Amino acid sequence: MTDRTAAIRKRFGELYRREASGVVSAPGRVNLIGEHTDYNDGFVLPIAIDRCTLAAFAPADGRRVNLASVQQEDAPASFDLDVDIEKGSPKWANYPKGVAAGLVAAGVELVPMDILFDSDVPIGGGLSSSASLEVSAALAMLGAAGREIDDYQLALICQKAEHEFAGTPCGIMDQAISIMARPERALLLDCRDGSSRQIPLDNPDLLVLVADTKVKHDLTDGGYAARRDQCYSAAAKLGVKMLRDADADMVSAAGDILTDKELTRARHVVSEIDRTLKAVSAMESGDYATFGELMYASHASLRDDYEVSCEELDEIVQRASQLDGVYGARMTGGGFGGCAIILASADRADDIARAITDSYTARFGHPCVIFATRAATGAVSNV
Ligand code: ADP
Ligand code: MG
Repeated sequence: MTDRTAAIRKRFGELYRREASGVVSAPGRVNLIGEHTDYNDGFVLPIAIDRCTLAAFAPADGRRVNLASVQQEDAPASFDLDVDIEKGSPKWANYPKGVAAGLVAAGVELVPMDILFDSDVPIGGGLSSSASLEVSAALAMLGAAGREIDDYQLALICQKAEHEFAGTPCGIMDQAISIMARPERALLLDCRDGSSRQIPLDNPDLLVLVADTKVKHDLTDGGYAARRDQCYSAAAKLGVKMLRDADADMVSAAGDILTDKELTRARHVVSEIDRTLKAVSAMESGDYATFGELMYASHASLRDDYEVSCEELDEIVQRASQLDGVYGARMTGGGFGGCAIILASADRADDIARAITDSYTARFGHPCVIFATRAATGAVSNV
């Protein structure tokens, strides 16, 4: 039993006055490449990180499901299995409640139970603590009910919970990777049809450094919604269903029918889809230098054409590019803050992290927080 498993079992005992019957886990993630492509039917290439949400649980008497979180000590919640599950307050409980509603809709007979969550995924930092909460909730509820559900169907249930109960219109990547990740593998996920392929990322000399800027800037000009609309209107003008169906030549030839923004947004998306597939080939042949170049190109495209970077993310990527042992770096996630990732030689990782933190602190007056991860395991229903 790991220290964290022992700790959550102990807290479960203190809180609910009996032993947990099981503990499940579900990781957060970073996307290695393929940014802002999911809602254009493109490809993404995430890995699970070495940080996860644990959920300890035990069936209970009565007809209620009780929810508590170490990260929300003052806000326990519960819901009744005999009435329709609805969203409400506290907000954090909407994620597990939404999952419960989705499981019921899928025909799972939930049992009354107590659940305690404990996460070491930074919350709200773009590493998908929300999906790890949803997936851990799902596994705890399925475990208590003695049921299993197909991986992709479970990802869809968790995604729906995030859409309908938490009000975040996310793609399928976060939930899919949390469930389907394998150690030493990245997941190439086709956001058009949900098909996926495990890609080896098993070189022991490599690490992924995750650098959290600790900032979240307000989204300018409507943020994501505006960009999504620009992508969809560009696709319509190009005569394709989605930008997945366009290519760089089509976009550059359409300069007179697209607005400036439609042109640059579309140029990012079609080039990013192309880069993601090239990155997979590079990874499969162990060509990490090429993989790293594609990461830098992805960052430049997100910064210049998609306009979702910020000076904190640019600083980390720029500094990383000057350091020995760095293959590549880029912002990851939606942008405007959150995290950057650096693909690095394991034996240089400490020096790289220190150099980046130092220059970041000197410029912004507060440190970025860096941790190292390898491609970690997906959700586990018995830890
Ligand atoms: P991210 O997924 O990038 O971490 P989100 O804004 O999507 O950020 O999700 C963060 C929200 O998820 C939190 O505000 C909280 O409501 C919920 N959450 C995540 N992990 C936990 C946890 N361990 N306990 C309670 N709530 C959590
Ligand atoms: Mg999230």
